Amino acid sequence: MDLVLPDALPSDDERAAVDAVLGPATSGWSGGERAIEFEGRVARGGEARDRRHQLLPVLHALQARAGWISPGGLRYACERLTVPPAEAYGVATFYAMFSTEERPARVVHVCDDIACRVAGAVNLIGDLERELGPERENQLLRSPCLGMCERAPAALMQTFGDDASDTAMGPVSMEVLDPFLHSRPWTMMTGAEPVDAAPQALGTREGLRLLRRVGVVDPSSLDDYRAHGGYEALRRAVELGQEGVIREMKDAKLLGRGGAAFPAGVKWEAVAKQSVRPHYFICNADESEPGTFKDRVLMEHDPFAVLESLTIAGYATGSEKGFIYIRGEYPNATSMLEGAIEKAYAHGFLGSDVMGEGFAFDVELRRGAGAYICGEETSLFNSIEGKRGEPRNKPPFPVERGVFGKPTGINNVETLVNVLEVLTLGGEAYARIGTPDSTGPRLFCLSGCVERPGAYEVEHGVTLRELLEIAGGVRGGKALKAILLGGAAGSFVTPDDLDLRLTFEDSKAAGVTLGSGVVMVFDEDVDLAHIVLRIAAFFRDESCGQCVPCRVGTVRQEEALTRVIAGRANGSLSDELALIGEIGQVMRDASICGLGQLAANAVDSAIHRLKVFDGGAA
Ligand code: SF4
Repeated sequence: MDLVLPDALPSDDERAAVDAVLGPATSGWSGGERAIEFEGRVARGGEARDRRHQLLPVLHALQARAGWISPGGLRYACERLTVPPAEAYGVATFYAMFSTEERPARVVHVCDDIACRVAGAVNLIGDLERELGPERENQLLRSPCLGMCERAPAALMQTFGDDASDTAMGPVSMEVLDPFLHSRPWTMMTGAEPVDAAPQALGTREGLRLLRRVGVVDPSSLDDYRAHGGYEALRRAVELGQEGVIREMKDAKLLGRGGAAFPAGVKWEAVAKQSVRPHYFICNADESEPGTFKDRVLMEHDPFAVLESLTIAGYATGSEKGFIYIRGEYPNATSMLEGAIEKAYAHGFLGSDVMGEGFAFDVELRRGAGAYICGEETSLFNSIEGKRGEPRNKPPFPVERGVFGKPTGINNVETLVNVLEVLTLGGEAYARIGTPDSTGPRLFCLSGCVERPGAYEVEHGVTLRELLEIAGGVRGGKALKAILLGGAAGSFVTPDDLDLRLTFEDSKAAGVTLGSGVVMVFDEDVDLAHIVLRIAAFFRDESCGQCVPCRVGTVRQEEALTRVIAGRANGSLSDELALIGEIGQVMRDASICGLGQLAANAVDSAIHRLKVFDGGAA
């Protein structure tokens, strides 16, 4: 397909927004004035082709400036980057936070995902729709999980133009949102102190390792971070040398915390051994699994720890450059990390000679734009490269051919922050925390009908019951109906499963997963059937559409569940449930990536474990 935009011209503002990212155009071949005396017969420049990876930042700049990506803005971006308009359009339309249709100067994304739904988001959205009326309906956007489940219902407010800003907030109500939507004076307020996101940080703090600095250090101060032990782990890493760090990592038996549970030390070693240069290391901060927000807490309250651990990973794997890929819905964490990166450069903790130790490491922050699938590592690489965030086939694996086709290591925020503990304690001592096969501390995200929602740190091996008690139990002393463990891609468990030990091995034996650490609690009053339907809708919406089993299967799964819930089953109820089971099996067996392979997990557990549609837990 081609896309021709001959009459589309950028506004001065759009032109300036693109130039602010790319710098002024230097040639007629990359969107600037054509100097006929130099460029009449020869092509100059060509550097634009190497900057395709700037497409996402450029699209962000256009969106923030104009509130949408207009044909003129898109055309200018394409000229500057020598990207065909059809390709750039394909990228712009892939991400939910970009719009190719005109939008008002202020929009609000209200989360209607699981935890926010339990907290009344559906009613709130209904009230807002009535208030705004049909003529302003595009000012209100329903959003999948915004990663603020401990403060549900949550919203992301965006203002475009001269004073462009993004503000994430929760819990929100009509009273909070009304002045914003009506362009009246509006002040940001939060219903809770941000550090409430980690309730243990407000208590005795006993035993905290990953959260040790949360609520203690000033997250904007490098000096304060250093006064609390910051950058001692990097110093230790340099003393150990690259092989020594990897040895400690393997001794620690640290498994990735993003869901796949791959041994981090093994991954690091594989990257370090590659002869192809350069190497890259990526911090995956795209935590988009509904119910997950622990990485956000770390980034907002301890951003230098994220940066230090990424620098250690870069050092150990011989990586010249690191990226932090953060989801677009995290404005507060983004600004904390931007500040931390700037200060780290200014004080020699990043750059050409890190801490005067003779190694170079650069870090760039990249914002996603609302695509759950970009948490999958190869989708994330495509997104950084300025392409649609569609997963790649594996092999080749990222350690051999990752971002820009080069050896790449990638870990999520929590995994990386564990590295500081590994180097502080030593690998063997770290491995004595938790259980032999699930070492170290672990963060869990408690949300839903729980007394004190938030990110909690425990050692692997505590039971689900103990974790729930730490968080104050079921809210209001109500009866527990079910828990969603591991997120939308995880499984429901019942009150009978409360003695499950939270380890990789115990969860596997029980046929469930810890996933990204989601523990979402549902009490006796929650309508679980509609929660299951929301999960199905989430996967239908987030499927990248690249492979048939997932693209079609997620749609059919949602359709069948809708019929069942509406009492309009095709044939008998058991026929429909059998069909849903078959669809799930096909998605599991034949989808390219984890999204399709896991899209039926929660549905399946709701049907078979909770018996939601048999008059069971629903
Ligand atoms: Fe895309 Fe789904 Fe296929 Fe993954 S499984 S590649 S998300 S269509």
